[in-house]
Amino acid sequence: MSEVRNTRIVLASRPQGTVTAENFRIEALAIPRPGTGEVLLKILFLSLDPYMRGRMDDAKSYAAPVEIDAVMEGGTVAEVIASNNPDFAVGDTVLSHSGWQSHALSDGGGLLKLDPALAPVSTALGILGMPGLTAYTGLLTIGRPQPGETVVVAAASGPVGSAVGQIARIKGARAVGIAGGAEKCAFVKDVLGFDAAIDHRAPDFPEQLQRACPNGVDVYFENVGGPVWDAVFPLLNTFARVPVCGLISQYNGATSSQTDRLPRLMRSILVKSLTIRGFIYREFADQRPAFLREMSEWLRTGKVRYREDIVDGLANAPEAFMGLLKGRNFGKLLVRVS
Ligand code: NAP
Repeated sequence: MSEVRNTRIVLASRPQGTVTAENFRIEALAIPRPGTGEVLLKILFLSLDPYMRGRMDDAKSYAAPVEIDAVMEGGTVAEVIASNNPDFAVGDTVLSHSGWQSHALSDGGGLLKLDPALAPVSTALGILGMPGLTAYTGLLTIGRPQPGETVVVAAASGPVGSAVGQIARIKGARAVGIAGGAEKCAFVKDVLGFDAAIDHRAPDFPEQLQRACPNGVDVYFENVGGPVWDAVFPLLNTFARVPVCGLISQYNGATSSQTDRLPRLMRSILVKSLTIRGFIYREFADQRPAFLREMSEWLRTGKVRYREDIVDGLANAPEAFMGLLKGRNFGKLLVRVS
């Protein structure tokens, strides 16, 4: 092979609370040659997602942690640049899970061919990929929004939240988005078409949220936890549904000084007959064909819009990822690797 090297970012150490640049190390290795049945992939896009924070901890979870000195895990869109596998030709574009690196070998297992003519290939990591499927399945299977009901979702300009609110509206519900800052709120309301958008950083955020939900909240799609949850919780209606998708405000180890939450929560679950149900999107993998069919149609007809935040260069991935955990991204965060 030529002078080109495989650039990769490995987990150098486990974070103590907030992630820092020292938790990552960048390396350059020789590009491997594909063996029998293998393909060599050149990574085009790397997806940066909140779940990666959990993989950096050595804690029991629904997935194994990334080992120290191992390549950081991540979804990718890649081009096949050499193939010893009859199922893949040089030039094919594929969805893979190759992690934070510029090149990777694969035996073809788990690769999904993408058709660049159908949609920009980056959408396979966003609105037509894992985040879109998460929004679709969590909202429709657990949240079950009905016409006229109020659906609230935070991180509303991001890939999951933006899809949740737009699908809620397609189903005839009112969508109230929560986002950080005036620019994101304007996007959520004016471009995505939510009925209201509230800035969770505003000093009177709980009062603003209450005014935006005059009939209470029937579905709260939980993406962030923390103070946002505290503001939504009293507004939940009888028989409200809470799909618990993510708790990003807690991922860097933030804790609350409030100690009386649990008794209040249990009492409300009882007296309001609440349904609070966690989920990981993979549980609903069998809904992927229906999701792709419906979401592709909503995109084609302009009923669903999406926004991408693309950072250039793999070396910038750690900084971009640290920003994601602080709300610095604006849209689906991707790294253009090649
Ligand atoms: P995202 O919206 O692109 O990025 C995260 C956003 O969260 C930030 O831009 C920021 O938006 C908000 N945020 C960060 N820290 C916050 C804090 N302390 N308080 C309030 N908001 C904060 O992320 P995404 O990919 O769509 O994921 C959204 C959630 O879904 C995450 O919790 C993720 O873990 C979860 N998720 C779960 C599954 C599953 O299978 N269960 C699958 C995918 C994603 P603002 O600036 O607007 O606050």
